[in-house]
Parts: sequence; structure tokens; C-alpha cells
Amino acid sequence: MNLILLGGPGAGKGTQAKKLIDKFQTPQISTGDILRAAVKEGTEMGRKAKEYMDAGKLVPDEVVIGIIKDRLKQPDCQKGFILDGFPRTVPQAEALDRVLVGLGAKIDHVVSIDVDEEALVTRLTGRRTCKNAACGQMFHIKFTLPKKEGVCDKCGTELYQRDDDNETTVRSRLTTYNQATAPLIGYYSVKGLVRPIAGVGSIDDIFNQIVGILTAGVKCSCGH
Ligand code: AMP
Repeated sequence: MNLILLGGPGAGKGTQAKKLIDKFQTPQISTGDILRAAVKEGTEMGRKAKEYMDAGKLVPDEVVIGIIKDRLKQPDCQKGFILDGFPRTVPQAEALDRVLVGLGAKIDHVVSIDVDEEALVTRLTGRRTCKNAACGQMFHIKFTLPKKEGVCDKCGTELYQRDDDNETTVRSRLTTYNQATAPLIGYYSVKGLVRPIAGVGSIDDIFNQIVGILTAGVKCSCGH
């Protein structure tokens, strides 16, 4: 199963991807996580990417396409993958199509998680993330409190607020999403791949909806 999770920043793509890994044993490929790791390591790519990320803008297509090309060739992707945060532009989607043709693979589902914009701002500005990149568990200061304040329930590592989870950057990320990423819904609808779901309700409810879609076979993009 090759899956794309589509949705605005804070729609729950990362949270759902982590649960899907556990259920389907397929890797999550998050370009955001890969870029943050490069920033942390202080690589040349990381230094350049940070400027875009801090401004709520997209890192240039050629950079993220290069990352994805390398990642999809890895052996752990042969039995399937969950793309989280890629593609984010139509040229990225077109490049992905070309990479997949080369690998003899195809996308099976594009799950589009729909959440109201103001709810996304509330979610992101209150979000806290585990510092341990291998864990990356997410919490919220109002909705998903950790058992011990500031500490990840899953691995015991300190939680932090991502540099781009402040309100100014969040609003810029939403504008970027509406302009550059939302057109992907049309791109994949034409291919009959979009499975829209309402991203409201509990994490488990949304997860069960996604699992229902993935295990029930193909649905029309109108949801029937
Ligand atoms: P995310 O963790 O998916 O919210 O991504 C955080 C930031 O990384 C975004 O706001 C972008 O600056 C950058 N980024 C992640 N994925 C992509 C992508 N596919 N294309 C361009 N920039 C990206």
C-alpha cells in the first residue's frame, strides 16, 4: 500500500502516519522530519532549508524531490510507504509520478484530511513535540496533555515547541498550503485517488476512518 496523506499543517497527518506505521508496518516518509534532521545536523541543505521553514514557506521543489527520490529507493519502501507532507506542489506530484514509474510503483490512496483553518491555528500554536526524532510523538497544551508536564509519555524525552509553530509562521504556512498544496486535491481527484475525510473528532475516530478506507478498497472521490 502506497499512501499520501494530504491536509493543511496541523491536520493530523503526522499523528495518523505514526499510528498507520504501527498497524501496517510501512515507513512514514515525512519531508518535514527529514528537513528538520538536516537543520539539526547543520548540513548545507539544512541551513538553506531553515530560512524557508522559519518563514512558513516551501523549500524549493528540487531539494525535496531529491530527498524523496533517494528515500523511495530504500529497501524498506519496497512493500509500501506513507508520504506525509510530500508532495506539496503540483510539480512535486508530477516528479513523484515519474519516480514511481521508474520504480514500477503507484499511489493507491490519497487521504485528504479536512480541518477548519482556525482550528489548525489553535492546534499548531499549542502543539508540543517530542525532541527524540525517532519518536516524534505530538502533544497539545490543552487537548492532549502528557502525563508529566513537558515530558513525552512514549519515550520519556523532553517536549519542545517547533520553531515554525508560532502564530505568524502558522498563518504563513496556511496561506502557502491554500496557494500551492490545495490544488493537489484536483490533481489526484482526476486520477480517482482522493479519499476525503473530516479531520475532526478523536485521533482514534479519524484513524478508524482511514483504516476503513484503506481496507475497504477503492472509493469514489465523492466519498461513496
Ligand atoms: P511539516 O513538518 O510537514 O509541517 O513541514 C515543515 C516545513 O518543512 C514546511 O513548512 C516547509 O517549509 C518544509 N517542507 C516540508 N515538506 C516540504 C515539501 N514537500 N516541499 C517544500 N517544503 C517542505
